[in-house]
Amino acid sequence: MNEIKLDIREISLGQLKDFFIEKSHKSFRAAQVWEWIWKHRVLNFDKMTNLSLKHIQCLKKHYTIKKINILEFHISSDGTVKFLFELESKKVVEGVLIPQRNRLTACISSQAGCSLACTFCATGQIKLHRNLNPGEIYDQVFFINQYAVKHFKKPLTNIVYMGMGEPFLNYKNVLKSIHYITSSFGMAMSYKRITVSTVGITKIIKKIADEGVKFNLAISLHSASNTLRSKLMDINKTNDLDSLLNSLIYFYDKTRIKPTYEYVLLSGVNDSEQDAKLLVKFCKKNPCKVNLIEYNKVANSIYEKSTNLATIKFIKLLEKNNILVKFRRSRGADVNAACGQLANKIN
Ligand code: SF4
Repeated sequence: MNEIKLDIREISLGQLKDFFIEKSHKSFRAAQVWEWIWKHRVLNFDKMTNLSLKHIQCLKKHYTIKKINILEFHISSDGTVKFLFELESKKVVEGVLIPQRNRLTACISSQAGCSLACTFCATGQIKLHRNLNPGEIYDQVFFINQYAVKHFKKPLTNIVYMGMGEPFLNYKNVLKSIHYITSSFGMAMSYKRITVSTVGITKIIKKIADEGVKFNLAISLHSASNTLRSKLMDINKTNDLDSLLNSLIYFYDKTRIKPTYEYVLLSGVNDSEQDAKLLVKFCKKNPCKVNLIEYNKVANSIYEKSTNLATIKFIKLLEKNNILVKFRRSRGADVNAACGQLANKIN
């Protein structure tokens, strides 16, 4: 019977060292393999030129390497690039490159599909297929970075885990992917350039605070009223605003990192003066920043974006109360690459 081979990008460097020792090879071979796999993304054992045939055969006998490929990419009139990545199962996940002023930001997916069904999000309309493994998450960053270097003559400046899926429902693989993105074996990027966005899984927020993570945390807030937030996002029924706040206070105490609250402005839904006042009250309870986001209409949606007047009033009320606020205009909407629009038609 054929032995089931492990994906080599799912094990640790320590495990690979142990493997080489067990097979009577030198443990430093593991570091060589690691550099091929993560730094150069050479995912074919035959092409690891500093290994001998016996090492290559040994690796091939016991390991496989799962990877993703670029299926298509689409360039928006504002320069945003949407990538469709194909998994080995032929399912498709999406990533986006957002060029803005001196920044090049990659928005990447952590799951194929999503189980959470937030009402304003296109990804929520497709079922969860599966969690992505660390290599599949890393590959998105690698490919988008390659594109950035080729077409913009510089590497990515920022990475946001805001594509398809809820990162904290796949948090072990997300943390592993961040480890390789930041490691000298991988892309050696700074933690400060990475933001993980969650709907607010409070148990995991506390857990990563305990682990002393160094990346930025963004919370999909969208309302500071439990009644409204539960209508917009099912997760609020089990992780309400009190428990969310509690976990964020804990997170800030442990890490000194101010979370960013993401707030998509929906016309007549969460953009009134009363909504802004509730948000101010919530923000005053723990150090934070606010990103107000222009809504992008998705198919079958009941929502519309806020008017300019409502948007300006909302921003002014926050500013008057000394809340750090930024407004993010929609980007890449003509190729369905904007926030909340990632739901490829191929799945
Ligand atoms: S907003 Fe995030 S968590 Fe909610 S449905 Fe969309 S992808 Fe899932």
